[in-house]
Amino acid sequence: MIDLCIPYVSGNEIKYIEEALKNKKIAGLGPFAKKCQTFFEERYGFKKCLLTTSCTDALEMTALLLNILPGDEVIMPSYTFVSTANAFELRKASIIFADTKADFPVIDETKIEALITKRTKAIIVVHYAGVSCDMDVIMDLAKKYNLIVIEDAAQAIDAYYKGNALGSIGHMSTFSFHETKNIIAGECGMLVINEERFINRAEIILEKGTNRSAFLKGEVDKYGWVEVGSSFLSSELVNSFLYGQLLELENIQRKRLEIWNLYKKNLLQLAENGSLQLSHLPSYSTHNGHIFFLVCKSSNERTGLMKYLKENGISTAFHYLSLHSSAYFASKYKGAELVNSDMFTDQLLRLPLHMYLENTDVEYITNCISSFFFKNLKNQIK
Ligand SMILES: *Cc1c(COP(=O)(O)O)cnc(C)c1O
Repeated sequence: MIDLCIPYVSGNEIKYIEEALKNKKIAGLGPFAKKCQTFFEERYGFKKCLLTTSCTDALEMTALLLNILPGDEVIMPSYTFVSTANAFELRKASIIFADTKADFPVIDETKIEALITKRTKAIIVVHYAGVSCDMDVIMDLAKKYNLIVIEDAAQAIDAYYKGNALGSIGHMSTFSFHETKNIIAGECGMLVINEERFINRAEIILEKGTNRSAFLKGEVDKYGWVEVGSSFLSSELVNSFLYGQLLELENIQRKRLEIWNLYKKNLLQLAENGSLQLSHLPSYSTHNGHIFFLVCKSSNERTGLMKYLKENGISTAFHYLSLHSSAYFASKYKGAELVNSDMFTDQLLRLPLHMYLENTDVEYITNCISSFFFKNLKNQIK
């Protein structure tokens, strides 16, 4: 069976975990947290990075930092992972779902302004598959209405919008190093703060609402409870693993992009003859080879293709189920139909993409996809 995703271990990780053990420092905020945070700050121009236990936790921190109160409104795409919404649902915000673009599953920037009200506090954007939302338009809206922009950049490490790293543009952003992402550490994430005024409180919220970070830096002589917080910081066992991955970042990115490009090349003909749709990358964005997906003509056709590929030893997967029509949210949803979000829910299919995939595997997969459509065509002619 060809798996959709296999977590990559480079071999460096164990060396740094052993170093963490030798340091006798395995809780959070140790030397490996510092090394990883510095790596990201220097490479991508992020103002301040804080490693967290997950991207989900980093998102929850942003909701705390914004002092979200019941009834405050936040705008986000419906086509996203539950964590984007949960972070604000936990603070009892009103979640206002926006549709995605028709040709790529990121928030449609032209649909946002009509959703802004006096109660709107923030816009949460999600860079799906490491492909950027149209950040200039979104940042202009934020300025005009005095809103905060948070980038859910869980999938967007090492991708750029008009030359700026994703995660460096919004007021804050969040990354994931979950085992399904490009750079991994099992369960781990990162909060990026690009606005000076949030940094102090972020360090407090990270450390259970205490000023322990200031204490460790020698800025105060004892520490205590100064505001609401939780335990969001990740352990040095995980941080040391992550550091091992960071040294491989360029290899990982090169290999993933090579696979992505080979898929694209091999499937181009099927896209041109209208059998399927390939992702349409906006010209302002690079991507990071995080996901390769195609869009089928219908939900039925997607089911048929998935089944055929499974019979041929290939696992594939669809992705998000629009949150506005989820079991949890559907009865609360009062907004308009979100046709593009629902279309991607029904028709998007992800193909295997991981570090252990060989070019010959990609050739095999794309040949199977071609024969599926060829078979369909023959049946139609009969
Ligand atoms: C993976 C993912 C998350 C959650 O990341 P965790 O680190 O598992 O909490 C959130 N948002 C998006 C868009 C994701 O892809």
